[in-house]
Amino acid sequence: MTRYAAPGTEGAIVSYQARYDHFIGGEYVPPARGQYFENPSPVNGQPFTEVARGTAEDVERALDAAHAAAPGWGRTSATERSDILLKIADRMEAYLEPLAVAESWENGKPVRETLAADIPLAIDHFRYFAGAVRAQEGSLSEVDDDTVAYHFHEPLGVVAQIIPWNFPILMATWKLAPALAAGNAVVIKPAEQTPVSLHYWMSLVADLLPPGVVNIVNGFGPEAGKPLASSPRVAKVAFTGETSTGRLIMQYAAENLKPVTLELGGKSPNIFFDDVWDKDDDLRDKALEGFTMFALNQGEVCTCPSRGLIQRGNYGDFLQAAVARTELIKPGNPLDTDTMIGAQASGEQLSKILSYIDIGRQEGAKVLTGGERTEYDGELKGGYYVQPTIFEGDNRMRVFQEEIFGPVVSVASFDDFDDAIKIANDTLYGLGAGVWTRDINTAYRAGRAIQAGRVWTNCYHAYPAHAAFGGYKQSGIGRETHKMMLEHYQQTKNLLVSYSPKKLGFF
Ligand code: NAD
Repeated sequence: MTRYAAPGTEGAIVSYQARYDHFIGGEYVPPARGQYFENPSPVNGQPFTEVARGTAEDVERALDAAHAAAPGWGRTSATERSDILLKIADRMEAYLEPLAVAESWENGKPVRETLAADIPLAIDHFRYFAGAVRAQEGSLSEVDDDTVAYHFHEPLGVVAQIIPWNFPILMATWKLAPALAAGNAVVIKPAEQTPVSLHYWMSLVADLLPPGVVNIVNGFGPEAGKPLASSPRVAKVAFTGETSTGRLIMQYAAENLKPVTLELGGKSPNIFFDDVWDKDDDLRDKALEGFTMFALNQGEVCTCPSRGLIQRGNYGDFLQAAVARTELIKPGNPLDTDTMIGAQASGEQLSKILSYIDIGRQEGAKVLTGGERTEYDGELKGGYYVQPTIFEGDNRMRVFQEEIFGPVVSVASFDDFDDAIKIANDTLYGLGAGVWTRDINTAYRAGRAIQAGRVWTNCYHAYPAHAAFGGYKQSGIGRETHKMMLEHYQQTKNLLVSYSPKKLGFF
């Protein structure tokens, strides 16, 4: 086990500025109204820096910088932009450990995840879109012997991006890599709970980008996010966050007829058919691990498999083993490489999770394990920790229907294929789902029948850049990752050209 030193202590590989202003036009710019807010680490609840509290004036300045940069950046060739994205990826790789520690310190997640998944996936995202934009082709259609329709991809111009706190660097990357590859300038607002990881990333790569191509405005949703999403000066709004906020974003953007992509909440079913338990082999073991994925990233994942549906035939055996497996999840200091579950991202989020645990108990769900806050002494004192929690109940309960966004899974049984699909689809959401079975026909039919944008089969929580990700129903509009994302950041230009001198003949 390695323990990374906490920022601000001896041996730390990450150091922070005492204060983070906005990053606009390639430099740090203080907030127009001079206000700052404190940023605590979830590891111990102690503030470690302060951050500019942005308002509409700051958003305007960032938009000025982005508009000044957009024409030049938009005219660069795909090859030039691709080269820059590859350099960003290389720089991130050179700073993998500091980026991983920064992400863990600000968000509370275990460094074993940020080292192995969050940051490597973010790096790969830049590489993927560096390649995708060069491989993207326009098209040509022969309308008739003398007339040709050419289709070109053009950047939108200046785009707005608003991101959440659960994967500060990865969520930024999902938006920045395709937007930059497509030739857009960006104004991005990080979540107020985790603004600094993005600034830390920016400090590592700023010299690789022309000033004004990426601008960061910090602040709260109604004060900084709303003026950004409502601005007629942005060509598109890309948002990740809660479904209720997504509804507002769509209203703001609709005022100016601007397109949106929305990545919203979920209540994903994880379905275990009887046959996964039939043999004591690797697939059974993998399925049990798949069940415990509800605790990955402290459950603060939009696709958290927060509804465990287990077929009745092997329900008791499977559940007993799943509880035992969950109890092996090692809690502790997020900066220890053997910690499996760290701190929730904010005190507010911790309170929300604890209140849902109360709600579950009140509505009659049974707690099979967990259910309590974990309080430590010493260096973790004051941090936001909660035990992985398994409820047993039924799908009508609020803990089955509402997004808790914590390490909480609600478990119910089902009778057969049709019953599983009925329960799985009985939700407002449609983001992710898991299907575990040895039978390819069951796997395929379930995958097609579940109303969700991503169905994992015999795996869970994998996010390769080449697979399209996004929501059905109230989980979102549009897709992220995958090369199709480039088109969400592009206009289609059609040139319809006649190569004939023949008159049109109308007048
Ligand atoms: P949130 O909606 O509270 O905040 C997200 C962002 O929106 C923050 O930057 C916030 O400041 C901003 N915001 C809030 N109110 C705003 C307003 N009125 N106008 C403009 N901006 C505003 O969400 P959160 O709590 O930060 O994140 C958790 C949510 O994100 C969960 O619901 C989760 O499922 C979802 N999420 C979805 C995906 C996905 O890809 N579908 C990925 C990660 C998280």
